[in-house]
Amino acid sequence: MNWRVPLAEFVIADDDLDAVVATYRSGWLTMGPRTAEFERLFVEYTGAAAAIAVSSGTAALHLTCLVAGLGPGDEVIVPSLTFVATVNAIAYTGARPVFVDIAAVDQPWLSATACEQAITARTRAVLAVAFGGHSGEIEALASLCERRGVLLLEDAAHAAGSRLHGRHLGTFGAASAFSMFSNKNLAVGEGGVVVTSDEAFAAQVRLLRSHGMTAMTWDRHRGHATDYDVVALGYNYRIDEPRAALAASRLARLDDENTRRARIDAFYREEFAGLDLTLALAAVDGLESSYHLFVIVLPEGSDRSAFRERLAADRIQTSVHYPPVHEMTVHAGEHELPVTESYAARAVTLPMFAGMTDTQVEAVVGATKATLAHVRS
Ligand SMILES: *Cc1c(COP(=O)(O)O)cnc(C)c1O
Repeated sequence: MNWRVPLAEFVIADDDLDAVVATYRSGWLTMGPRTAEFERLFVEYTGAAAAIAVSSGTAALHLTCLVAGLGPGDEVIVPSLTFVATVNAIAYTGARPVFVDIAAVDQPWLSATACEQAITARTRAVLAVAFGGHSGEIEALASLCERRGVLLLEDAAHAAGSRLHGRHLGTFGAASAFSMFSNKNLAVGEGGVVVTSDEAFAAQVRLLRSHGMTAMTWDRHRGHATDYDVVALGYNYRIDEPRAALAASRLARLDDENTRRARIDAFYREEFAGLDLTLALAAVDGLESSYHLFVIVLPEGSDRSAFRERLAADRIQTSVHYPPVHEMTVHAGEHELPVTESYAARAVTLPMFAGMTDTQVEAVVGATKATLAHVRS
């Protein structure tokens, strides 16, 4: 499809390309000094104690759940309204995902009240998702978890650059996972980062990222080690140097890109105010969002497919974040999630990316208004 306005588009600068080319010329491709440098920059950027770069956001989530000690017999509270990887990561460990409803149709994040009701003697953790880069109820969840002796983990895949009262999202819980997948704010293609304030947690993540080996290929290359032991059942979740170099280069521009997203978000809200539409994810006091997604919720009874098809005919791409995970075959079961289901039937994600031109933003606004008017008449 030749979109006039795609949902998301990767913005690449000459600096990014130079960093990648220099990496290939350096003769060292797998995890090494550029990865270490990116991790140092990400620690500085987020204010966390440690950052461990890995091969994907899913790998970051998996390691977060494993090192948190989740396993068979444990229950983990999670929203159904997320990408399936959030829930899979819990299931990989043998723990049982327990789906909890979202706060409201314009607030598509875990409801702290509903979480509290779902806590049982088996509840080991809450895995919260910073939906669209929004803080949601993270402060209420943090105090709930502390009060009830439950671990708070964060899926911060959308949240690169999101801060609440100056504190970076992903640093409210014991550990969190960021994604650098193609359509995320800090995109490199495939990649992820585990962030934690606990050095022992970080050490365990580092170990499991590379087969549980006590010395890396890079250490041996430098002559810092000649042999190694394997002390845990680990994985190959390493990132490589070209992507780490790209991540470091793009991190320098992330705040500027998120500022452009903030302007687009504000323009959308201004233009859509007063229409028969619910605008999700409104900013709250103290939140500096990454503005990863812009989501509208159509009126009850609307034909969403028709709405999306009309925009597609205008060559404007839309999406749905997300088809709820509890409705997917692999995670199906008995669940009562009325708010999630109401939202999921009516939500439409509109294009949002830092490289969007004013013409593209206006095209989305125009097409959305025209389509709504048509649907109503
Ligand atoms: C993208 C995403 C993931 C998975 O990240 P990958 O890097 O694609 O593995 C997990 N959770 C959420 C909410 C995401 O959006």
